[in-house]
Amino acid sequence: MKNIVSICVLVLTVAFTSCTKPNGEDTGVQQSTISQATIDNATDEIAGKYTEADRSLIARGVKQTAALWFPEDGNTDEFIAFCKENFLASEDERALAFKKLSRNFEIIYGHFNQMNLKLLEPLHLDMGKVGIVDQKFGAYSPGAHLQTDFYKNKIAFIVTLNFPEYALAEKNEKGSQWSRRQWAYARMGDFFTARVPSKYKINYSEIETAADMYIADYNIFAGRLQNKAGEKLFPAEMKLLSHWNIRDEIKSNYADKDNGLDKQRILYRVMKRIVDQTIPNEVVNNSTPEWNPFTNEVFVDGKKKEAAAEPNTRYQKLLDLFHAVKAMDPYYPTLDTYIKRAFDGNMEVSQQETEKLFVEFVSSPVLKEVGAIISKRLGRNLEPFDIWYDGFKTRSMLDQDKLNRATQNRFPNAEAMKEELPSILVKLGFDEEKANYLSDKISVDPARGSGHAWGASMKGAKAHLRTRIPGSGMDYKGYNIAIHEFGHNVEQTISLYDVDYYALNGVPNTAFTEALAFMFQSRDLMILDMEVDNPDKEHLNTLDKCWSLYEIMGVGIVDQRVWKWMYEHPEADAAQLKQAVIEISTTVWNDYYAPVFGQKDETLMGIYSHMIASPLYLSAYSFGQIIEFQLEEYIADKKFADEVYRTFKQGKLTPNQWMLEAVGQPLSVQPIINKTKKAIKALK
Ligand SMILES: [Zn+2]
Repeated sequence: MKNIVSICVLVLTVAFTSCTKPNGEDTGVQQSTISQATIDNATDEIAGKYTEADRSLIARGVKQTAALWFPEDGNTDEFIAFCKENFLASEDERALAFKKLSRNFEIIYGHFNQMNLKLLEPLHLDMGKVGIVDQKFGAYSPGAHLQTDFYKNKIAFIVTLNFPEYALAEKNEKGSQWSRRQWAYARMGDFFTARVPSKYKINYSEIETAADMYIADYNIFAGRLQNKAGEKLFPAEMKLLSHWNIRDEIKSNYADKDNGLDKQRILYRVMKRIVDQTIPNEVVNNSTPEWNPFTNEVFVDGKKKEAAAEPNTRYQKLLDLFHAVKAMDPYYPTLDTYIKRAFDGNMEVSQQETEKLFVEFVSSPVLKEVGAIISKRLGRNLEPFDIWYDGFKTRSMLDQDKLNRATQNRFPNAEAMKEELPSILVKLGFDEEKANYLSDKISVDPARGSGHAWGASMKGAKAHLRTRIPGSGMDYKGYNIAIHEFGHNVEQTISLYDVDYYALNGVPNTAFTEALAFMFQSRDLMILDMEVDNPDKEHLNTLDKCWSLYEIMGVGIVDQRVWKWMYEHPEADAAQLKQAVIEISTTVWNDYYAPVFGQKDETLMGIYSHMIASPLYLSAYSFGQIIEFQLEEYIADKKFADEVYRTFKQGKLTPNQWMLEAVGQPLSVQPIINKTKKAIKALK
């Protein structure tokens, strides 16, 4: 699985919500002072003025407006007067206001997006040396003050009063009965739901950047690592960024029949020492010392050297993030913890429901059978790092040189890729008209990095496929990523241009766009007419997906439980948090992995870097895989292109509602469990 954070631009409508609770830490804090009596008063006044209007709707709008109304916006009388003047009682007036708001938001969000896109081009595209001006403008966000402005000019209050928000549970409960228009109104209700003072946002952004930098510089020099016997096995210059490169190196060493296992064991020791922070501080991002992660000895110039352990910096970073988001809690009337904002808000699946779904999968007895198959294929008992077993993939059977030649010939540069977009879509089953229609709305840009997909936010603008093509043409690896990004672009285009209401544009959460990106990516060889001819391919593919979901769900559960622990122990220090992460990782392992691996008390599940720098994002990967699997299962006997169009045209419903409409059932792990059972049977 590709790293979502690094290769994709996450265009999220973050559900910002607001404040009724006093914030004990800061007496100068702005907060709503509108009492329940005033809310009732305003509701009565409006209901008296418009006797035919739905009182519950009035009350909902007034309540949300009150929660966001600060003393600077006016006194109690002014609040009541505002509500009375601006409540739109007739359905026609409301519909007209909705249309105008939608048009204006599209203009504003669309152009802010264009400005960001353009200002970042010198950083993202190969436009020569990056200078200080490029960096300053790249860091500038033209839309940063939009929310503040809209509270000041009270547009936000017109929205909250007439298009109030619905909680996740309400959306899931009532959503199946709602018309598209009602859904769109409810989505507009998510536009203004919090009013977090900018000092907290700035503080968070600084702390997040510091965590990012800590992770971005966490390199392990594999060439300096020793095995148990003190020998060095990795190429001298090899540098591995934790945890991604270390994990990928473990995966690739399944192919090394001589030293692979020994190397995997070294890297496994490294990971454990990062988790428990016994890693010597000196070996992090330092190519000088040699290190034996088994004995934890450090050597410089062949001489043993005393080296202090990393001082729990890893957990201090996580703790800093926790305090930064917790400080914002009082400004969210409904989503008043970061856990709720990440799950009910961004993901739109509650944390409880998420954990239940994950536990259902990781406790499935079928995993024991998959583990046994892996053990048999490896010819040894499983070791904990086999959670990254990579041997079910059929593409490794292909001749890499042949693949590289094929993609280099077909895609010598970005223009060639652009020209090929319609034929790629036709190959995927889109008719020519649709293929051209979509391709016209996607631009291909030569990127500096490995690439990403950047969607438009208004009709008339294009989505951008950013890909890196060296002078020798696009190699297979680059092509494989480009097809993934193209999948994002197709989603971005359908869910903007073909969704009936602007307020509903997009997907329920990032996992949905990832699902389509992976569906495209998995068809990359079919597009090249170079599919692997292996009768077991589909079964092996299923086992691969099952095992990969097993791994990523475990780290997702750890991440969730660590956040719950932090909320239960807000005074904890870094050492206590470390202890908690170790205990939680061990418990998750003992409950769901030990039965498969036959080994207890493993801490490996605490290694993911996302846990430190992208708080509570990890679970999105599991959702991406679940959704991809459910969609693939559903469309297996249908036309891929038609179903992609039908499902992604739904726009931003809740995940469960979207899935119900798409495949006839809510998010579920049963399809992958069932298919794994079939694959095991077939391979026997
Ligand atoms: Zn992606």
